[in-house]
Amino acid sequence: MKYKTFLLFGAPGAGKGTQGKILGTIPNIYHFACGDVFRNLSIDSDLGRTFISYSSKGSLVPDQPTIQLWRESIEGATKQGRFNPTKDTLVLDGIPRNPSQAEMLKDTLDVRAVFNLSCLDMNKLVERLQRRALRENRLDDANLEVIRQRLATYEHETKPVLDYYGPDLVHTIDSTQSPINVLQDVLKIISGLSA
Ligand code: ADP
Repeated sequence: MKYKTFLLFGAPGAGKGTQGKILGTIPNIYHFACGDVFRNLSIDSDLGRTFISYSSKGSLVPDQPTIQLWRESIEGATKQGRFNPTKDTLVLDGIPRNPSQAEMLKDTLDVRAVFNLSCLDMNKLVERLQRRALRENRLDDANLEVIRQRLATYEHETKPVLDYYGPDLVHTIDSTQSPINVLQDVLKIISGLSA
C-alpha cells in the first residue's frame, strides 16, 4: 500500500515549515518535516554527527541514511498511532530533496500534489532565514555563506524534483504572499482535488 501524499516544496525560507505546521493540525493530515527529524537526533549518534557535518556546509545528507531515517520515523509514527496510513494523508516537507530520493520513494508514496512555494527574490529568502536564525537558534541560518550554499544546493539538486513529478502534479504558489494567503491557495488546491 502506498501512502497518499502531498509534497511541500520550495527553497529554504520559502515557508514550507510554516504551512506544514498549520496543515498538520488538520485531522487526518500527518506533517513530516525532514529537517526537524534530523535536528532531533542526538549529537552523540553517528547519523547526528553526519547531519551536522553536511548541514553546516549547506549540503544535503547522503540519500541512503536519509531515506532510512524517513522510513523508520514513519514506521514509528504508525506504531504509536500518530499516523494512520489507511486514513491519513502525509504532508512531506523537505523530502524528497533530489530526484534520486524521489526515485527511492516511488513505490512508497502516492503523490497527489506538489505545492511549489515559489519565491524568485533571493534577498527576501536570505532575510527570512536570518530572522529565523535568531528566533529558532539555527546555526545553518546564521551564516550568510552557508545560506548562499543552501540556496545553491536547492537550485542545482532539489529543483529538478519538480520535473520528476511533472506539470500535472506541480502547483506553483507565490510564497511572497502572507502565510494566510499562501494557506488559502494550498487549501483551494486540496479541496479541488478528487478524493
Ligand atoms: P531548509 O529547507 O530551511 O534548508 P530543513 O530544515 O528542511 O531546512 O533542512 C535543514 C538541513 O537538513 C538541510 O540543509 C540538509 O542538510 C538536511 N536535510 C533535510 N532534509 C534532507 C533530505 N531529504 N535529504 C538530505 N538532507 C536533508
